[in-house]
Amino acid sequence: MFKWLGGLVDSNEKELKQLQSVVERINSLEPEFEKLSDDELLAKTDDFKARLEAGSSLDELLPEAFAAVREAARRTIGQRHFDVQLMGGIILHQGKIAEMKTGEGKTLVATLPLYLNSLTAQGCHLATVNDYLARRDPYWMGPIYHALGVSVASIYPQTPDERSPARLYDPDYDSGKENDRWRHFRPVPRREAYGADITYGTSSEFGFDYLRDNMVIDLSQCVQRPLNYAIVDEVDYLLIDEARTPLIISAPDVEAGERYQKFARIAPALKKDVDYTIDEKERRIKEITDTGFGNVERILKREGILKSGSLYDNEASAVLLHNLRNALNAKEFYKRDKEYVVKDGQVIIVDEFTGRLMFGRRYSEGLHQAIEAKERVKVQQESRTYATITIQNYFRMYQKLGGMTGTALTEAEEFHKIYKLEVVIIPTHKPMVREDFPDQIYKDEEAKFKAVVREVEQLHKEGHPVLIGTVSIEASENLSNKLTKKGIPHHVLNANPDRHEKEADIVARAGQPGAVTVATNMAGRGVDIILGGNPEGQAEAEWQEKHDKVLALGGLHVVGTERHEARRIDNQLRGRSGRQGDPGSSRFYISLGDDVVRRFGGDRVKGFMEWAGMGEDTPIENNLVNRAIENAQVKVEGYYFDVRKHLVEYDDVVNKHRELIYGERRKLLEGADLKANILSMVKEEIQGIVATYAASEYGDGWDMDSLVGEVSTILPLPPALNAAALSQMRPKDIEEKLTELAETFYEQREKELGSDNMRVVERLVMLRTIDGLWVEHLTAMEHMRQGIGLMAVGQRDPLVAYKTAGHDQFQNLLAAIQQGVVHTIFHVSLVKKEAPAPSPMAKAAAPAQPQASLKKQKVKGKKIGRNDPCPCGSGKKYKHCCGR
Ligand code: ADP
Ligand code: MG
Repeated sequence: MFKWLGGLVDSNEKELKQLQSVVERINSLEPEFEKLSDDELLAKTDDFKARLEAGSSLDELLPEAFAAVREAARRTIGQRHFDVQLMGGIILHQGKIAEMKTGEGKTLVATLPLYLNSLTAQGCHLATVNDYLARRDPYWMGPIYHALGVSVASIYPQTPDERSPARLYDPDYDSGKENDRWRHFRPVPRREAYGADITYGTSSEFGFDYLRDNMVIDLSQCVQRPLNYAIVDEVDYLLIDEARTPLIISAPDVEAGERYQKFARIAPALKKDVDYTIDEKERRIKEITDTGFGNVERILKREGILKSGSLYDNEASAVLLHNLRNALNAKEFYKRDKEYVVKDGQVIIVDEFTGRLMFGRRYSEGLHQAIEAKERVKVQQESRTYATITIQNYFRMYQKLGGMTGTALTEAEEFHKIYKLEVVIIPTHKPMVREDFPDQIYKDEEAKFKAVVREVEQLHKEGHPVLIGTVSIEASENLSNKLTKKGIPHHVLNANPDRHEKEADIVARAGQPGAVTVATNMAGRGVDIILGGNPEGQAEAEWQEKHDKVLALGGLHVVGTERHEARRIDNQLRGRSGRQGDPGSSRFYISLGDDVVRRFGGDRVKGFMEWAGMGEDTPIENNLVNRAIENAQVKVEGYYFDVRKHLVEYDDVVNKHRELIYGERRKLLEGADLKANILSMVKEEIQGIVATYAASEYGDGWDMDSLVGEVSTILPLPPALNAAALSQMRPKDIEEKLTELAETFYEQREKELGSDNMRVVERLVMLRTIDGLWVEHLTAMEHMRQGIGLMAVGQRDPLVAYKTAGHDQFQNLLAAIQQGVVHTIFHVSLVKKEAPAPSPMAKAAAPAQPQASLKKQKVKGKKIGRNDPCPCGSGKKYKHCCGR
């Protein structure tokens, strides 16, 4: 490990040296660019593009392009890129991760590679962590791009008062509203926003658009272009912390479960270590004991859920056991106001890293329902997944990917192994002078928080601004109460997702003299804390006075109230202080009751403390203990890395399937010749049927009645071609005869419908069949994954088992698609007037509210009976397909 790190730092130095020479070249161009008129500067873009056409590479153009951006930035927003910012820009252009400390100006850095890469006109994306930044960044940087003639747009999640969640920077447009940050951003359709040279947006919106694009039934409905180049801001957050939550487009499943409520009542009746055991480290139910099984069976029988037999041999036992585990998980590991909050009758996940509420996200595999049942709120219907992708896999699809963040180094190995992304540490513009004091370790939480409050009280009195980080909402509320009792005015920032703007505001003021701000980890990430507060909205002299006062006091002091599981998150918090050469300080307070200490480093630290004979309120500051805690963190980081790697490996299986299916789908939309394809599918199906019922050459064991029956489900057979007639023929001839018949029939249909219509029919039948079965496939794969997870005790590597089973499942999918198409294509008729009904998937793909629009489809028009053929074209009965 250390050897490896040593290598990393060496190569970093080398890397920086190389960058330095490019930076010098850019600097040498500066006088020349300074002399250009605004028009001449603007004309540079066309000049660069012409040279690209003539064969220059982006790398060759880089020094001049960067010089142009620097000059444009200086002229428009009055910020001239520092040399280290140029370095960061080069790294991003090279498709690597630039580690640049918080406050170093990464927003400005990104303009360099975004402009350079926009010259190829294939689209560049910048992914932000939240919608506030997705709007703020293009608003800040827009004038730079405009000066260079480059278009820039923003996409962000829909809000109640904004129907078209995309805007394009257009200085000619004017909303006419004073103080409107969007004054010159024209609302545009998503497609137009993606058509811009540069598009800023939240990572999930990029991902969702990708999924929706793969659910449309006509190419004109696609909004994205092929994924060319993306820069991911706060890349560690998006690719490491967020990576664990997949994006899902779903619609409610018809069946709701009363079972969840039943099990939510059973779980509290069971006793830990008697009925079941837990693994605290891995946060899972380890085992349900024999006693536990007995007790559960008894209750289930009493409630009439289990009719007879035991939990093992019952038909539904897998489901029941799954429910039971979920209910116990919900009881043991998911605590209200820590992992989730209950708001307006809904269970909302709290982002464990930022403390933000993650609206719309749900725990998968029934855990969310189990928590809802535990909290006695309405258990949401289970839903069917129409499309899903993890953030990781989405970003892995870009031709080139760059990332930036203040904290990447501790996770460099993961970036390298999973994303093949190299981390380069860019030095700060001014030397960092923040002082990080050693941790203070207390015996328990209470003593710790008492000390924190004492410290804050003191600092506040002296006029220091203090930022206090907590790991959970609960902790921030508790601390807030304690501060209130002491009469210390303060702001609390936690889980305020609708109001990033307000959050940004509080953070911006956190640098004022005496300001006390309590924030869950990293809330308000991406927003600057300026010493003296945000100059905006203050008289200059007033701000200067405050600024000087805070400087004299030693800048912002950061208090950490608990070590987070990852050192990276601690560093994020610390990094809020000491920006751009500002003075600052930080200290973490720790207690032996803290999660990370208990779970991973507990015994060593505790042993040490006992040895040191610690009293209640006396902290210790000791390097040995600090090291033990850091080791614990490294252990946890390693553990989570493995978990994520594992997830990626599992995800890769479905990811391959998705690539193949979406690839085929795309070909369909782009107008591939389907007729030949469909006819060869028909031929293959007929071959299959003949091989089944007329296997031998000379009539032994033939079953001509079944053969005729099966073929008739594909296409009508003329009366002359009956079982008796066919049994006189050789298998080869039967095959040929039937195929010929199918082809003739096809031509006939094409004449009836007209060739153009036939092409439409072919495409729709294919799309609907694929879409319907793909949804089933996703569900099947999901179940398989759960099943294999439960089997993990066997000797077989569950991943290998999953891959093998996944392969088979995919083969089944392909076969089912062929079967579905073949069995539908001859039965389709066109009804005039009504446009072809889009498949349920296409409906679910409607950007606004997938769920609502799907519902609408069911109510509208003729009601579909449970036994009718499913309208999705799968060829199955509705109740076995989408109507489940
Ligand atoms: P980061 O994303 O790296 O944390 P930001 O992009 O939020 O940093 O920028 C932090 C602050 O630094 C902003 O107020 C920004 O205007 C300022 N800044 C960045 N680069 C420059 C520059 N070259 N000249 C002047 N101010 C700059
Ligand atoms: Mg930033």
